[in-house]
Amino acid sequence: MANRQNSENEFQRAQQVIPGGVNSPARAFGGVGGTPVFIDRGEKQYLFDIDGNRYLDYVGSWGPHILGHNHPAIVGALEAALPSGTSFGAPTVRESELAELIVDAVPSIEKVRMVNSGTEATMSAIRLARGYTGRDGVVKFAGCYHGHVDSLLVQAGSGALTLGTPSSPGIPEGCTRDTHVLEYNDVESLIQLFSEAGEKIACVILEPVVGNMGVVAPTTEFLKALRPLCTQHGAVLIFDEVMTGFRVAFGGAQERFGITPDLTTLGKIVGGGLPVGAYGGKTEIMNSVSPVGPVYQAGTLSGNPLAMASGVATLRTLKESNPYPQLEEKTTKLVSGLDEIATSLGIPHSVAQVGSMFTFFFNPEPVTSFAVSAKNDTEKFSKYFHGMLDRGVYLPCSQFEANFVGAEHTDEDLEQTLKAAREVLQEISTSP
Ligand SMILES: *Cc1c(COP(=O)(O)O)cnc(C)c1O
Repeated sequence: MANRQNSENEFQRAQQVIPGGVNSPARAFGGVGGTPVFIDRGEKQYLFDIDGNRYLDYVGSWGPHILGHNHPAIVGALEAALPSGTSFGAPTVRESELAELIVDAVPSIEKVRMVNSGTEATMSAIRLARGYTGRDGVVKFAGCYHGHVDSLLVQAGSGALTLGTPSSPGIPEGCTRDTHVLEYNDVESLIQLFSEAGEKIACVILEPVVGNMGVVAPTTEFLKALRPLCTQHGAVLIFDEVMTGFRVAFGGAQERFGITPDLTTLGKIVGGGLPVGAYGGKTEIMNSVSPVGPVYQAGTLSGNPLAMASGVATLRTLKESNPYPQLEEKTTKLVSGLDEIATSLGIPHSVAQVGSMFTFFFNPEPVTSFAVSAKNDTEKFSKYFHGMLDRGVYLPCSQFEANFVGAEHTDEDLEQTLKAAREVLQEISTSP
């Protein structure tokens, strides 16, 4: 087993001054046990920890690094921007450049506003949908994560039509009173909800491919039902493409599936590793945002020049290199390899893949909703995770996350990953 003593020590130190030693709970290894690995640096497909261990990275900072770490185009853009200053609180040309790249790439976006995180993007999109429609109701789906927005941190109630309850202390009942929670891919419930409460619903928000309960693909029937139902009832359809944007296709899931939402939220890849979020859509709706319209939304550091430089370099590189066909091919190779190994060892499992997002589920059922994902064998996953980590493969530290293949992953990397997985899954299949 690799020596990670420095990480152990630093984790002790961090816990003295940072809650749980981390600035986002997903990093804390809570789902798998053990000590988080402290990273020294990233290079292409690799992470290096502070003990000098090297890992093949399938997390990519939870999505942004589709081009790998330390990409020369992004580093170059940042180096070029830095001497001019870090923030002005006044318009800069790069904001329009990034906005134009986004409008050009994402089919439904005519105008876009920059913010600083995915959470800020979804929070603002919900407010805009409510302000634009003059309605309060929000529909979300269990297992979809939209950042830590008060009105969206809800648990499903009992029946399909029950309203959600807060899933965290500190969120008043009032914040979630108007949030309906349905099962993903459940068209019947959506139709029923609209027929009973359609005139009160401001918006439907979803991950068009879910990454946050492990990868779950939408059924064709579900995707096809959303657009006409929202149109018919005057509700705003919001695609939360913070993860899928520039990931499952350059134009996101809406390009891949040919469905046009009213609003789209972006994050992760759009900033190329710097803190950027964005929300955009039809001009008519976006013109409700301040200062053109009455819906207030602002940000001291929004459109930050360094963040914009990183985003512009990332999107330009993706547009020019079009890595998507190869990414998908590599991911398919990896996922079918994992599937074969697990099948040959008799390990109950299923796999899910859309583009370069994938999850290996310790669950014999195909995962189509949160109700199914809740049955994943998390104990087996913990063993798998630690076994892979010890063999130099860095996976998301939870069964309920998406894994990402990036442009820098080579065929050799995939083979090395499969070799490690074979050893670890072999151990799991023979342990009691
Ligand atoms: C990561 C994510 C968010 C939240 O973005 P942050 O930048 O972490 O605030 C929102 N929605 C989806 C689909 C995400 O994957």
